[in-house]
Amino acid sequence: MASTVRLFVEHPLGKEQSVALSRTQAHYLFGVMRLTVGQTLLLINGIDGEWQASVVEAGKKGGALLCHVQTRPLHIPPDLWLMFAPLRKERTAFVVEKAVELGVRRLIPVQTAYTNQADRLRIDKIEAQVIEASEQCGATYVPQVDPLAKLAHMLDTWDMDRQILFADEALVGQPATQLGAQGQGAPWAILIGPEGGFSPQERDMLQAMKPTHRISLGPRILRAETAAVAALTLWQSQLGDWQ
Ligand code: SAM
Repeated sequence: MASTVRLFVEHPLGKEQSVALSRTQAHYLFGVMRLTVGQTLLLINGIDGEWQASVVEAGKKGGALLCHVQTRPLHIPPDLWLMFAPLRKERTAFVVEKAVELGVRRLIPVQTAYTNQADRLRIDKIEAQVIEASEQCGATYVPQVDPLAKLAHMLDTWDMDRQILFADEALVGQPATQLGAQGQGAPWAILIGPEGGFSPQERDMLQAMKPTHRISLGPRILRAETAAVAALTLWQSQLGDWQ
């Protein structure tokens, strides 16, 4: 089956809505994907669901599309944040892409005591990766990406209604935690540490907070990007929208 082009546009979508294309979008659709006038594609904007549209104008410097029918309603993922310490570039890109595919509402890069990649973090790149992953995986919602936040500050100002799934490498070897129905329907955040793990002070701070659920991710020390996927899978399969 020829894969249908799916494109994120920052533009309202609706029946008979026309969408003007930027030069970059025109290059992608007509230069790279070789679409021509009359052909159809799918559009998302993170708000109006997915719409089938057709090419009405195709040029090197721009073009125009016309929306016809909504093919998917907006599906907003559960109120789940992924808080992750920045890693080496390609590993952060992996975490971002998998988080979108597995389903998060918000991505928050956090500076922890042992984080050592934060200074090269490019939020614009992460936003572009989020859009690309949303286009690719059939999502109709595009997660929000926050600027880098200090973990200590996040915890100091924490909303105590939001549960924290704290992947703590100090629990390695203990059985992976069953989340059960506790916190079903509540807002959650998953916290994954950097390659160097969490500091004793961070662990104490987290353990002292009521909404914190310290979890083991099994008997081996996982790379941070593996831990992010494992924790998201655990949460989504027990409390999320995989039910
Ligand atoms: N430097 C740490 C050590 O040797 O103990 C390992 C940190 S690990 C590479 C990065 C993050 O992944 C950890 O901070 C934690 O959030 C998560 N993680 C990795 N393995 C885990 C496990 N078995 N249980 C819980 N969390 C784990």
